[in-house]
Parts: sequence; structure tokens; C-alpha cells
Amino acid sequence: MSTTSEQTLATRCVHAGEAADAHGSPHTPIYSTSTFAFASTAAILDVVEGRAAGSLYTRYGLNPTIQALEAKLAAIEGAEAALAFASGMAAEAALFLAHGRDGIVCIGDAYGGTLELLADQLPLLGIRTRLLLGSELERLDGLLADGFGLVFLETPTNPALEVFDIAAIAAQAHAHGALLAVDNTFASPVNQQPLALGADLVVHSATKYLGGHSDLTAGALMGPAQRIAPVAAWRKNLGSVPAPETAALLARSLRTLPVRVRAQNASALAIAEAMATDPRVARVLHPGLPSCPGHALAARQMTGSGAMLTLEVAAGKAAPAAAAAAVVDRLRLFTLAPSLGGVESLVTQPCTTTHHGLTPEERQRRGISDAMIRLSIGLEDPAELVADLEQALGGAGG
Ligand code: PLP
Repeated sequence: MSTTSEQTLATRCVHAGEAADAHGSPHTPIYSTSTFAFASTAAILDVVEGRAAGSLYTRYGLNPTIQALEAKLAAIEGAEAALAFASGMAAEAALFLAHGRDGIVCIGDAYGGTLELLADQLPLLGIRTRLLLGSELERLDGLLADGFGLVFLETPTNPALEVFDIAAIAAQAHAHGALLAVDNTFASPVNQQPLALGADLVVHSATKYLGGHSDLTAGALMGPAQRIAPVAAWRKNLGSVPAPETAALLARSLRTLPVRVRAQNASALAIAEAMATDPRVARVLHPGLPSCPGHALAARQMTGSGAMLTLEVAAGKAAPAAAAAAVVDRLRLFTLAPSLGGVESLVTQPCTTTHHGLTPEERQRRGISDAMIRLSIGLEDPAELVADLEQALGGAGG
């Protein structure tokens, strides 16, 4: 079904990319085939040589279920085109290979796999990479002047929920002819639209909010068709397309994305406010709280503050890592798992999971304390989640 950019996100999430089939199915069915038949050589050449749109071979992404998903993914970020991937890392790897050849600057904290790819693996291919802390932004101009062609950032970041100014950094990159790609996984398109703010490309771990149920692994990249085409060439030969079954499951999930995320936003803010007044919590990081350093910028560039929050447990005389681990281990409603964005609330302690690979000194340099616990707020009753946190903070007998 055709949708327009004037329609609200909720309408686009339901209708974009959907085409009724010959049987009247209201949603694109699962074409779980690897290849597609043609009536003639002329007809196959029309598709192979790009004169006609059509299904051809699933690994190329030329499969109706995958293409329907991509139309929906493009619509929800207000993009001209989108590509679906087998994972968020597959999307990032193809993005970096297609657009990062002149050098990549990553700003602030990013997902551990992203940092590993940038710091350890891409340099093996001769690709220059630099990782800047948020406090080192003054170095960006020099790197851009030196020809670095791609700037990459997450905002809000993991786990400190630092917020970066997408419009300002996009303008700075563009002044040097570079591109800005934003990982919009934490915010989701419901709360932040990076392309409208000036970013060139948006990437997602669709495993998180877009999938929303912790039951699929996928990735997405959105942007102008001209920027997406070179990435599609890498995806084709890296073979990192999602299976049609996963594509259909993700399209199913996207239909409820705004409903889920808005409810999760409201719960997270209520929980953050409750935790902010609890003396057993030293600090609460959530962009919706005025006390959070990124609050004013988030209020300008985001339409909702998201459902991620990080608590720093007041450890008292106990070792910070042990004090935080004890709280995590006492939680009953929150599931201890290293992911986010699902309907179930999840908890992780960054120093034992997402940032375990960093040295204690590097964690300290990045402002990631051992007493931090990161919460991904799901769709349970927020009062019951607060009660669970209170009993866990209270200790075994509390
Ligand atoms: N980007 C962010 C912000 C993430 O949190 C993750 C995974 O946790 C990724 C990218 C990588 O996504 P995936 O696990 O789907 O490959």
C-alpha cells in the first residue's frame, strides 16, 4: 500500500510496504523461496539489468517479503530507501565497507561489537578509524580536514545515555564533504528521526525496538537511494540479507512499534523519577530527567526520551561491582540478559556484559562505573517494576 510522508508514523507503520496478494491477504505473505521464475530471457534480463523491478534471488534482497519490509523500514525513518540485514552488525559492516573507505570517526560510546569492528578489524583492511569520546569533539574538525569521510555515532549512548547534537555534527561533517551515519537503535524512530535532523544514513539493530519481542535478529539501514545502492552491493556479496521468515516477523512487529515505544517511554520516565528520589540510588541517567546532562538537547531533538535508563547503586562500604551485582541478582521481574528493546524488562551490569571487554581504566575514562546497572523497560506494569527495584535495592531481607 502506498503511504505518504505526511501520514503519521502510526499509519506508516501499519500500511507502508503492504501489498495484498492474489488471495487478498492484507499483509505481504512469506515468500520462503530462494529464487523466482521468469517467462523469458528478455524478462529476466529486464530485472537483471535494472529496467524492471521484480523478484529474482533472495540473497540479492529481491524477494517480495524482504522488499515489503524495506518499504516499511524506509517509511518509518522518512527515508527514500532502506535495506534489511541479518543483524545490526551486518548492517554496520556493510555501511562501513561501502562508505568508510576514506576513514571513519566514531563519536562517543557505541555498542561493543561496533567498537571492536572499528578498533580491531577494519584497520586490518587498511581502513583508518578513530574513536573519540564525547568530551573530545574538538578533535573532529581536524580529522575531517584530514579526509575522514564518515562520522558515526549513537545517541543516546550506551550505558551513560549521553546525547549528541545530530544537526550540529551533520553540519560539521557536511562542511568537509563527509557523511554522518546515526545508530538510532536506542531511541527508535518513534523518539528520534535523524534524517530529518540532517544525518545522511540511519542504522538499526532491528533485534531491539523494531523487532520488539526479543524473538528475532535483524538489522536495517535507511537513507537516500544514491547512498543505499553501494551498501546493497556489499550486502549482496557478503550474503547478509535476512531470511524471508525473519523479514515477515519484523514487518509484523513494526506495525505496533509506536504503541509499544510510547508505552515504554512513559513507564521508563515514571521509573526514572521514582529511582531519582531513592537514597539507595546514587545517580539515575535518563534523558527525560532534568538532572541528566543530555536533558535539554534531548528535549530539542527527541520527541520522547526512550525506555533505557541507567542507575548507579549507592554502594556504601561495599565494592561497587559487588553491590550492583547483588541488586541485579535480587530482581525478579527484570530478566538478566544483554539486550534491550523487548516487551519484557531486561537488566544488565555493563562492567560484566556490554563493557566487560574494556579495562577498568578504559571504563573509568568512559564514565562507566562498576556500580551501574542498565535497565531496558518493557511493557509490564510500571508500579510492579518499581516495586521489584525497591525490593532488590532493599537487600535480601528488604
Ligand atoms: N547497535 C546497538 C546500539 C546495539 O545495542 C547492538 C546490539 O546490542 C547493535 C548495534 C548490534 O546489533 P545486532 O546484535 O542485531 O547485530
